[in-house]
Amino acid sequence: MLVDAIVEAIRLAVTRIPDDVVSALSEAHAREDNEVARFNLENILRAMEIGKDGLVPVCQDTGTVTFFVEAGVGSPFLGEVKGWLVEATKRATEEIPLRPNAVDVLIGRNSGNNTGKGVPVIHWELVQGDAIRIAVLPKGGGSENCSALAMLTPSEGWDGVKRFVVERVKECGGKPCPPVILGIGVGGGADYSLLLAKKALLRRVGERNPERRIAKIEEEVLEEINALGIGPMGMGGKTTALDVKIEVAHRHPASFPVALVFQCWANRRAFVEIKPDGGVEVWQ
Ligand code: SF4
Repeated sequence: MLVDAIVEAIRLAVTRIPDDVVSALSEAHAREDNEVARFNLENILRAMEIGKDGLVPVCQDTGTVTFFVEAGVGSPFLGEVKGWLVEATKRATEEIPLRPNAVDVLIGRNSGNNTGKGVPVIHWELVQGDAIRIAVLPKGGGSENCSALAMLTPSEGWDGVKRFVVERVKECGGKPCPPVILGIGVGGGADYSLLLAKKALLRRVGERNPERRIAKIEEEVLEEINALGIGPMGMGGKTTALDVKIEVAHRHPASFPVALVFQCWANRRAFVEIKPDGGVEVWQ
């Protein structure tokens, strides 16, 4: 059943941190000489081992279940996918289990199954082809709380982007559970820059933006962030961020939107592809 594959992808995302993230954390541990930072990184790496071996979530906050769907216009399953994503979220909450994280904003009641008005969060993009590709991004609350948007003036430009990002990271300190990965969306409008920033978190650690000038800015921001010395869990050290990912869109002549979305060390993701014959592939 195709819902099983989506449940499997959610399980993979919350229990197993992708290899590129584990390698980046191990490298951070190897170059660290601050004892407290080394200890924090060891604990993080241990939590990942336990999650992987025991198939238990690597963090108690299993996040808001968020899907990015690239829906091939020729897929015979277009009309059914939304129902499957909701059902898979309910089943994953019970079977893995996930922490129930969907609260009614008016009465404060938790739905108990991670579904409700607007959740799971589903972002849709129609693409050519007949396959449906779904990215699962469980998003923890601690890191999400540090997200921020600035509507810069065009004259502030890229220097303004850097200033805004570095100031916000400083302000948040240990709250987003560093080492973090930063998704930065520049351009579009307020809404689209935030979407770009979150989607950027799906890229592998070390994968640079294909546009050379943006890739260079990613590296410069990463260097500035790590020079802050906030360190793992905010207790000092060389690695505050594992990576910085920038995505861009054209902007209005009068606006320079910049959105910043934090992802904590529990940088979780998984993918499912549903083929037109009903075959599925799940990977990280
Ligand atoms: S921010 Fe991330 S690591 Fe920290 S508690 Fe939330 S999910 Fe867990």
